[in-house]
Amino acid sequence: MINVTKTFFPPIEVYQAQVQRIWDNQWLTNNGELYKELTQKLKDHLDVNQIIPMTNGTLPIQIALNAYANCGEVITTPFSYVATTASIVWEKCKPVFVDIHPQYLTIDEAKIEAAITEKTTTILATHVYGNPCDVEAIETIAQKHNLKVIYDAAHCFGVTYKGKSIFNYGDVSTCSFHATKLFHTGEGGALFCKDKETRQEMWYRHNFGHDGPGHYHGLGINAKMSELQAAMGLAVLPYMEHIITERKRVCDYYDQCLDFLNLSKLKIRKNTEWNYVYYPIIFESEAQLLETIKNLAANNIHPRRYFHPSLEALPYINSKDCPIADTITKRILCLPLYTTLKERDLESIVNLINNA
Ligand SMILES: *Cc1c(COP(=O)(O)O)cnc(C)c1O
Repeated sequence: MINVTKTFFPPIEVYQAQVQRIWDNQWLTNNGELYKELTQKLKDHLDVNQIIPMTNGTLPIQIALNAYANCGEVITTPFSYVATTASIVWEKCKPVFVDIHPQYLTIDEAKIEAAITEKTTTILATHVYGNPCDVEAIETIAQKHNLKVIYDAAHCFGVTYKGKSIFNYGDVSTCSFHATKLFHTGEGGALFCKDKETRQEMWYRHNFGHDGPGHYHGLGINAKMSELQAAMGLAVLPYMEHIITERKRVCDYYDQCLDFLNLSKLKIRKNTEWNYVYYPIIFESEAQLLETIKNLAANNIHPRRYFHPSLEALPYINSKDCPIADTITKRILCLPLYTTLKERDLESIVNLINNA
């Protein structure tokens, strides 16, 4: 069976060596040695200003919204994973959906200003499939209207824009280290920000609002990363170059062999060094997509309808339609993409799609 993705497992000895350190230290969580080492290694690897590893990629979004959005209106994208919208609703804010750009698939910056009201506090946008939003235009709008900017950068491990980590843009950026993501700690994630003050503010929030007994700074939750998660991170991190190279091999194969007469693909923004995290293709109609899914499934190949449906159609949302997101979500499919995907499997996938 070929699925859309397959988790990268480092050699078990590499993981065991990290886990052995936890037993030696007899220390499982709360600012442990492995957590501290992973924090520093990620900071160096990604070349980011400030980082706080966390227990998943959803809590940093909620923590940033809790700090900035003040139960107001949050301008957001309808084209992302459900965690983006759900976090807004969970934090008792109102999501205001702005449609996406038809080729970049990120929030359409030209439509943001029309959605701003006196209740707007924050923009929460997703660099979907690792493709950066127009961060400059969004920064200009945010400054003009005095709004905070949070980027859901769950897909962006290793992505740079204009030579700088995409995590360094916005007031806060977040990433997911879930098992299905590019770099993983089983479950995990991180929050990124520019300066030490913001880091402190966010750090308290992820640690029950305090540092040490009695030192309360405000409201907080528990989003700490444990030593067991850090052990997986330290075991996976040395393989990132290998992971990216093998994924590039698969993407290059699709680029060269798929017949793009009746298909289109994601347009990556200029000045971006991309990370080959997903390979979405867009069909001309939903009927063609469903037919292709059927043909692939008959050969035990299971791509995924990432992202479907459009988030403004969620049952707990009451919002106007976003016509571009609606049509894209009906026609977009993410093809199998992982390090061990074999050339002969790629050949069958491509043939089944081209011959549909
Ligand atoms: C995976 C993902 C998340 C959630 O991350 P978790 O680590 O699973 O909590 C949030 N946003 C996007 C866009 C994602 O793809």
